[in-house]
Amino acid sequence: EQRTPRSRKHFEEVAQVIPAGATRSLNAWPPHPVYLESGAGMVVTDLDGNTYHDFLANYTALPLGYADPDITRALAEQVASGTVHSFSRTGERELAELLAARVPSVDKIRFTGSGTEAVMFALRLAKAYTRRTAVAKAEGGYHGTTDEVMISVRPAANLAGDAHAPRSVPEMAGIDESRVRETIVVPFNDIESSAAILRAHSDRLAALILEPVLGVGGMIPADREYLAAMREVCDELGIVLVFDEVITLRIAPGGAQEHYGVVPDITTMGKIVGGGMPIGAYGGRADLMALLEPRGGTDVYDARSGGPVLYQGGTFTGNALSIRAGITTMSKLDAAAITDLNAKGELLRRSVTEAVAGTPVALTVTGIGSLFNLHVGVKKVHTFRDLRGIDAARQHQLFIALLNRGAIIAPRGMGCVSTCTTTEDIEFFARAVNESLIDITGEC
Ligand code: PMP
Repeated sequence: EQRTPRSRKHFEEVAQVIPAGATRSLNAWPPHPVYLESGAGMVVTDLDGNTYHDFLANYTALPLGYADPDITRALAEQVASGTVHSFSRTGERELAELLAARVPSVDKIRFTGSGTEAVMFALRLAKAYTRRTAVAKAEGGYHGTTDEVMISVRPAANLAGDAHAPRSVPEMAGIDESRVRETIVVPFNDIESSAAILRAHSDRLAALILEPVLGVGGMIPADREYLAAMREVCDELGIVLVFDEVITLRIAPGGAQEHYGVVPDITTMGKIVGGGMPIGAYGGRADLMALLEPRGGTDVYDARSGGPVLYQGGTFTGNALSIRAGITTMSKLDAAAITDLNAKGELLRRSVTEAVAGTPVALTVTGIGSLFNLHVGVKKVHTFRDLRGIDAARQHQLFIALLNRGAIIAPRGMGCVSTCTTTEDIEFFARAVNESLIDITGEC
C-alpha cells in the first residue's frame, strides 16, 4: 500500500463514477486495485511508476507479452485503413483458415466479440441442432458471464450439494431461475457420477460444455480418461460435446483437444486468438455450423424466405483490428513457439514447487503447458472440490506479497508464461513465491 499512493487516490476518484473502481469485477480487490499504465514484454508499470513482471498477461490473453512489435505494426497499418467495416473483409478468411487447419475438429468457424459470446452462440447452436433445451457443465467450469453458464462456478460450500451430485447454484442475484433448472452440473474428473447425471437428463440435454483444463476453477487438468469417457457418453446420448478452449488453445497447436486426443463437436476460443484485441470464436463440424448458412433466399432476417436457422449479430464482431492482431499472434505462436512456451511453464511449475518445499504453508502448483495456478493451504488438487481446502486469507496475502515483490498473478493464483519470459524471470518468480510465503506465515 505504501508503494501505491497514486493508485489508491485514483481508486477513490474512479470509484465515484465506476462501481468498485473497476470495470471488471475481478479487478476490484482489497485494499485497492493497482492501476497499470503501460507494458512492454513481460514488464508492466503502474500509476506510481512501480514495475512488475506480469505473469498474468491479462488473464492469459497475451502469449507474446505486451506491445509485441509485429502486432503493433500490424495494428498501426490496419488503423490507417479503418478499424471496422460494414461488410466482412478478407482477413477473416486468413484467421479462419489458420484456426481450422490447426484444430482438425473445426470444419467451419465464426468469430464473435468475446469468449462469452462464443459460448452463448455455441450453446444456442447445440440447442437448435438437437431441439433440446438444457445444457450440462462441470462444477467449477467458467464459460463467461451469461445466465446459463454463471452457475456453480464457485458454489458456496453449503449450497453445492453432494460431491457426486452437485447442485446447480447461481453465482449471483439476477440469474433467471428458470434457466438455473436448465443447467445441469457434473463433477469434474469424476467419470461415473458425470455419466450417471448425463444419462438421467439425456432427453433434454443439448450440450455438455467442458474446459479440458479447468481455468478459472484452478488450472486443473482433466484426466484423459475423463474427457474420453465424456466423448463416449455424449455420442451414446446424442449430446453435443463442446470444448471451451478459450484458455487452453495455447497448450498445443491444435489446442487441448490435440494434447488429449479427444475430439469435440464444437470448440469455443478467445483470448490468444485476438492477439490482445477483443475476440471470441466458435467452430466445429460442418453439419452443425450449417445452421448458420443461408438456405437459398435473399433475406437473412427472414427464415421463411431462406435465411439461416441461426442468426448471429454483433457490430464489432470480426473487426479488422482483432483479426489482424489475431493473425499475427497465431502465426508467431507456431508449434516450435508452443513447445518452447510449454517448457518454460514446466520449468516454472517445477521451480516454484521446489522453492516452497521447506516453507511452513502448503502450496500446490497445478497447470499444464504454459499455464499454472498456485493454491495455498492444499496438498493435492485433482477435482474442483479439492479447492475447498484453500486458505483464502493467505491466498490473498500471497497475491499482495507477490505484488510487493514485483510479480503479478491473479488474486486466486492463476498465471502463465509468455514467449518473452526468461529463465531469470522464472527464478525470480520462484524466489518471490518462497519469500512471500515466509512473509505471510510470519504475519498470521
Ligand atoms: N471461457 C473460458 C474458459 C474463459 O476462461 C473465459 C474468460 N476468462 C471465457 C470463456 C469468457 O471469455 P471473455 O472474457 O472473452 O468473454
